This record gives sequence, C-alpha cells and structure tokens, in this order.
Amino acid sequence: MVTSTGLRVAVVGSGPAGIYTANELVTAHPDITVDIFERLPVPMGLLRYGVAPDHTAIKSAAAVFEDVLAHPAVRLFCNVEVGGALSVDDLRQRYHAVVYATGASTGERLGIPGEDLQGSHSAAAFVAWYNGHPDAAGFRLRTVRAVGVVGAGNVALDVARMLLKAPVELRCTDIPAPVLDELESSAVTDVHLFVRRGAADTKFTTKELRELGGLAGVDIVVDPAHVAGARSDGLPAAAARNLNLFHAWSERPLSQAPRRMHLHFEARPVAVLGADRVTAIRLERSAEPVSELSLDLLLRSIGYRPRPIAGVPSVDDTGTVPHRGHRVERDGEIAAGEYAVGWVKRGATGVLGTNRADAEETAAAILADHPALLRRLDGGDADVLVTLLAERGVTPLDYGAWQAIARSENELGARLGRTRVKLHEWEALLAAGRS
Ligand code: NAP
Repeated sequence: MVTSTGLRVAVVGSGPAGIYTANELVTAHPDITVDIFERLPVPMGLLRYGVAPDHTAIKSAAAVFEDVLAHPAVRLFCNVEVGGALSVDDLRQRYHAVVYATGASTGERLGIPGEDLQGSHSAAAFVAWYNGHPDAAGFRLRTVRAVGVVGAGNVALDVARMLLKAPVELRCTDIPAPVLDELESSAVTDVHLFVRRGAADTKFTTKELRELGGLAGVDIVVDPAHVAGARSDGLPAAAARNLNLFHAWSERPLSQAPRRMHLHFEARPVAVLGADRVTAIRLERSAEPVSELSLDLLLRSIGYRPRPIAGVPSVDDTGTVPHRGHRVERDGEIAAGEYAVGWVKRGATGVLGTNRADAEETAAAILADHPALLRRLDGGDADVLVTLLAERGVTPLDYGAWQAIARSENELGARLGRTRVKLHEWEALLAAGRS
C-alpha cells in the first residue's frame, strides 16, 4: 500500500479526464500520490462505455490508461460511489486535493410532447446498452424496422452506424454477446437522421461521416432538393467537407441495398406520436408543411449533461461544476482543494484527446497550488479510508481486480471464438474482480 508524506490527491471518476489528470500529477512530482475512485466495478469511463466498439483505434488509448493505473503512485478504488458510500467531505478531510472527473452521462431532453413514450430513448441509453454498461436497460430490435435519430453530432453517427453495420463486422470487437445476438436478429432497414440546421451547418466529424458512406449493404439517401441551395464557399473547413459529401451522396444512384440511412436537413421534431408507444414523429421543415414519418424507435442524440454529485455544486443550465481557473467555486468563492476536469467541468464537447489537454490545465492548477494545499491538511491519512469503507460494507475493486476482470473477459472471448468479450452485468463483473 502506498503511504506518503507528500501531496495526496483524490480523483473522482476513472474516465479519460481523470486518468490523464492522475498521469500529469504523478509524473510531475515524485511526492504526489493519487487515489482514483469509481462508482462502477471497472475503470475507463467513456473509453469503455462511450466510444463505439468498432472504433478500435480510439479504444487503443486503453494501453496508455493501463500504464497510468499500474503506476506505483496511483491506486484504484472501483465499486465506490462518491456521494454514496463515501461523501465528498470524507475525501476533503483526507486528501489535500479532490478532483471531480465524473464526465457527463445523461442524455439531454428535447422537451417535446410524446418524448417519454415507450420506444423513445436517449442515445445515451442506447450507447450504454451496446457498450455493455452494467446499468443499461436492454433494447429489442427484432421488431424494429424504422429508427429515428435526432441530432447532428458524432454520437448520432455512432448510433446510426451501430444500427446499420453488418453484425458480422462487430465480431472482432468486445461487444457483449447478448448485444451482438440482438443486432444479428435486428429487423432495422431504415435509419432517419434529423438535423435541425441546414446541410451547411453540421457538427459531424467528416471522417466519421465518410465511414457511414462506406458501410456495406447501406444506401445513403439525401434529397437533392435539401442540399441544392447550400454552397461551401466561406464555410469552416469541416462544415465545407461535410457539405461536399452530402452533395456527392445526393447525386449517387441508390443501389437497392437492404438498409438505408436517410439524412433530413432543417427537420425539427415537434412531437413524438403514438398511443402507448412511438409510431411516428412530427417534423417542421423550413419552407415545407409540417410532416409526419412512421418510426418504431426514436433515439435523441442532442448532447449529454453531467449527473449531479451529492455535495458538489452544479450550474443549473448545464449541470457542470462551477469553476474558476479549474478550481471549484462554492457560493462564488474558490473552494480550497477542489478541482474539476473533463466533461463535468466544460460540458460534453471534444474528442478523447481534448481531455488530455484539459487534464494538463487542471493538473497545472493543482501543481501551482501545491504548497498551499500541503498546508491545508494537517496530518490525516488517506489509508484509513480502506477501514472506513469496510465499516460501511463496501469492498473496493483495485487494479488487481481490474486485471482479473480483463482476464475473465479474454477467457469469455476465447470460449465464444472471439477476442475479448465484455462482461456486462454488475454481479458478473464483481465476481470476476474478486476471483
Ligand atoms: P454534439 O456534437 O454537441 O451534437 C449534438 C447535436 O444535437 C447537435 O447537432 C445539435 O444541433 C443537436 N441538438 C441539440 N438540441 C437539439 C434539439 N432540441 N433538437 C434537435 N437537435 C438538437 O453532441 P454529441 O453528438 O452528443 O457528442 C458529444 C461530444 O463527443 C462531441 O464533442 C463529439 O464530437 C464527441 N464525440 C466524438 C466521437 C469521435 O471522435 N468519434 C464520437 C462520439 C462523440 P445544433 O448543431 O443545431 O446545436
């Protein structure tokens, strides 16, 4: 067990932002130790539960994160909820600095009638399901033909791709076995993407958009009338590249492929329709009468907001932690020894690497405060936390447990004739971690 007379830092959340911050701190100063707390039984956050399973190049960042978790000055406490089994004050009393890195996992709401009908979900719930998140509810796709996805960001593209891609191409990923079974039985033939702005104004990353155009057995349907007036002159480079792609797709003859991806521009959902479950969506389109389109499933992919952490302030509009210079604000004043990083600080924007730059900034603030932080706590010992957790009936899963879970997932993969296959249930993860 690590004991230290130096700076003790608690990081709440083991996703990319938290792990990058831990790395910055322990590599900056030999006298800093970091304990990472994670509500789930496994670390890695968005990398494991947000990034789509077929984006293996992005997932390869896991190797870097493993090195950080294995660092002798870093300890991992999974299966420990801060704001639950441990309070924020438990941490503030025992660590010189506490860093909130809990991300943003709740899907934003449209605020339109019918949004809560059965068959209407946030993309966050669908992403959690296909990534084997242990809190995810199941999805049944075998009677679903037409799916609507609202939003024009990269998550919308991930969701559309996972619905349309040939499941055989997912066998080389770690997607959980029941999810792969369901995708293999899927009846989905049409995915409709509803973009509220015009074709010249989308937030997609062009690389991800091109990937959709390259899917086997999928036609991309773009109404030429909806892109005809849009010109790429003067647009930001990414928006111009996207628009050129939409023009090319609108001119491409359809191949009678078994599945279709329809792009609807300037299409604003105003109501989700159905008696007890979703049957259609009502759309307002510029210069066109209100229209309705039949759907069996609707996924809203319009951004994420952070889950509140008990004992930590949040900004009403965004759900983010209020901060000044990466230091948490309580009642308008900087709270000594509290910091934020990643999506819980800046909202759900940016790609994985954005969190690295963000972590460098938060870590720099902690390092700048280092002498004052050491004075903030007189003595104290983070190791009594282990006893405290035991008294509260919580058994944390450490880095060794995470390695045991990884071994179990590799063994499961070998049994199924695949590479690693994720465990997706709490009990299975806890059992594997304790084996
Ligand atoms: P996002 O990029 O912010 O996109 C959200 C979309 O929802 C926007 O198109 C927005 O439209 C639309 N929207 C918001 N409110 C709406 C409403 N009421 N009605 C209709 N549309 C609405 O969010 P995201 O897709 O959830 O992605 C979050 C972050 O993760 C992004 O930075 C993204 O790039 C990143 N990410 C990256 C990858 C990757 O690198 N492969 C994969 C997934 C996610 P407006 O544009 O009109 O506001």
